[in-house]
This record gives sequence, C-alpha cells and structure tokens, in this order.
Amino acid sequence: MSAEWFLKLKEYDSLEKMKNGLLKAINDEEGRLSLLNNKRQEQRELENGLKTELHSLQQDYFETEKKLNTSEEQAQRLRDIGGDEEKIKKFVHEAGAFEATLFAHLEKIEALQVGLEEKKTFLTGLDKTILEISAEVKEEVNKHQKDLDQLELRLTLIKDELPLDFKAALEKTLKKNLAIGPFTRVDNGSCYFCRFKISRVDESEIDMQKNLKFCPQCLRIFLPYGS
Ligand SMILES: [Zn+2]
Repeated sequence: MSAEWFLKLKEYDSLEKMKNGLLKAINDEEGRLSLLNNKRQEQRELENGLKTELHSLQQDYFETEKKLNTSEEQAQRLRDIGGDEEKIKKFVHEAGAFEATLFAHLEKIEALQVGLEEKKTFLTGLDKTILEISAEVKEEVNKHQKDLDQLELRLTLIKDELPLDFKAALEKTLKKNLAIGPFTRVDNGSCYFCRFKISRVDESEIDMQKNLKFCPQCLRIFLPYGS
C-alpha cells in the first residue's frame, strides 16, 4: 500500500516543480514589461529635461532680444540728437554682442527642437511597442495562470489523499526547500545525497517494508527501492 503513497509524494514534488516553473515564467513575462516601462520612464525624463532646457533658452532669447532693441534705440536716439560718438559706439558694440548671443541661442534652440521631435517619435514608437507587448504578456500570464490553477488543484487533491504521516513528511520537507528535491535513496548502505551511513535495519525498513523514513543528516525522504 505505501508504495502508492511514495508515488504520490513523487508526483507532488514534480507538480511542485512545474508550479515553480510557471511562477518563474509569469515573473519573466512581467519583468519584460517592467523593463520597457522603465525605459519609457527614462526617456520621458530625458524629454522633460530637453523641454526645460528649451524653455529657458527661449526665455533668455526674448530677454536678449529686448536688450538688443534697447541698445539699438539708445544708439539711434543719440544719433538723432547728435550725441557723443563714443557713447553711440558703445551702444552699437553692445547691440552687436547681443545679436551674436541671439544667433548662438537660435542654433541651440533649433538643435533642441530637432532633438525633442526625435524623442517624441521614439516615445510614440515605444508606446506602441509597450501596448503590443502588454497584450502579449497578458495573454501569456493568463495562460500560465490557468495552468497554475489546475496544478494547485491537483496538489491539493494529492495532499488530501495522503495518509497523515506522509502528509506531515511532505509538508516538513517542502518547507526546507531542499536543493535538487526532497527525496533520496539508500545507495550502498548510505544516503545517496549526503552519504550518511544507514544501518541494515533501517535499510530493510526502507527498501523491504517501505516505511517512511528521513535521512537524519540531510533530512530528505527515503524512497524505497523500486519506487
Ligand atoms: Zn542524506
């Protein structure tokens, strides 16, 4: 009879591994999307930086333009009243410097506008990609979730079928999250995994009487010979 319970234990373990595989797959899918969302966030921040820079340059442009006009007006006013030649020269010189600044600003502003336009195109493309990937991810996750629900159901059924000692053994070993799995065998008088020495009596109880036993050292469940 207990041979059957060992099979159930093994089935439970392999279903549990499938479950972990599905959980990882769901996680990977969601990771794919969050990577793209992070990228979008990053690009939006760059776009905002460009906008701020453009705004402040435009602001400065208008200020400089006003100063240029004032200098030109001052020069003209002095000329009209036949003012001091040196002062006129000073205003003209000032106006020239403002004009140079305006040209430099204009170039930067144009470059920024081109950059912003490119960023906008890129972000539109990225939004479209994210929309497509979102739909894909949603579909995949839903599919995995359905499989997961079925697995959970089977896991619960197996657990409910098991006799109490097997159920307790399962819960105890699962909690330990043992690497490679919760099972071992007697191999040449020792635990296959950790080589802990097993007595002849224990070996016979495990392999012949198919009793439920744990390795005292690595705490894995012994599967009897042939199961
Ligand atoms: Zn062991």
